[in-house]
Amino acid sequence: ALVVQLTGVRKAYNVGRPFETEVLHGIDLTVRRGEFCAVMGPSGSGKSTLLNLVGLLDRPTAGTLRVCGEDTTVLDDRALTRLRGHSIGFVFQHHHLITAFTAIENVMMPMLGAAGFPDAAMRTRAAALIDSVGLSAWQDHLAGQLSGGQQQRVAVARALAMDPALLLADEPTGNLDTQSADAVFALLRHFNATHGTTVLFVTHNPALAARCDRTIQVVDGRILTGAT
Ligand code: ADP
Ligand code: ADP
Repeated sequence: ALVVQLTGVRKAYNVGRPFETEVLHGIDLTVRRGEFCAVMGPSGSGKSTLLNLVGLLDRPTAGTLRVCGEDTTVLDDRALTRLRGHSIGFVFQHHHLITAFTAIENVMMPMLGAAGFPDAAMRTRAAALIDSVGLSAWQDHLAGQLSGGQQQRVAVARALAMDPALLLADEPTGNLDTQSADAVFALLRHFNATHGTTVLFVTHNPALAARCDRTIQVVDGRILTGAT
């Protein structure tokens, strides 16, 4: 089954205004369920733009984008938001945690308001996720008091709160020392193996990319290698 399928996808910024620029030029890409893909390429080549489209944070200017079997071109914003919430988890270079909330509260955030999560169940699930990223002892510490590596592990736990089919990780190890980067990568690999989570992992680190199933190479808004 294909989790991600792009056909002729283009993305331009400032459409119809001066300085309109197309940054993705007709992307064809397929990612199968359970694949763990590295996304590599020079700065400014379009990797974040590609992830934002696949993550339904932005829409293509042209082409077809299917996510988890759904043709997203025909979905309205409300349906996109719903699909994103149920199917997609995000981890960014910056953790984007709420630093004045505890680690476990941050992990509970995506479950708030989601159907089928009574309060106690939310807390139990969040505690299990915190445990799975090795931070049980820190679950009631404020996120702002944790180290950078610990914060990013909380961000991974939060991204997995809704058990997404697809995890989009945009340079999640970019700000971390080698040891913390390895720990975060190992976590992503672990969830990929145990839950079948499909992962797109943007990295500049060739050693980590070598440990992925394949590398999607983006250059100047085109996919050079690894499109299928
Ligand atoms: P990467 O993630 O590979 O560094 P990006 O997707 O961030 O690349 O950027 C690709 C190109 O698109 C760059 O030239 C960047 O300046 C441009 N770009 C990104 N976001 C916007 C935006 N919101 N408006 C205009 N140009 C943008
Ligand atoms: P950059 O790499 O350019 O600093 P970020 O990775 O911080 O950008 O964010 C990229 C986009 O994703 C932004 O539009 C931002 O608003 C959005 N975003 C950031 N954090 C989250 C999140 N936890 N969930 C959903 N969208 C997010």
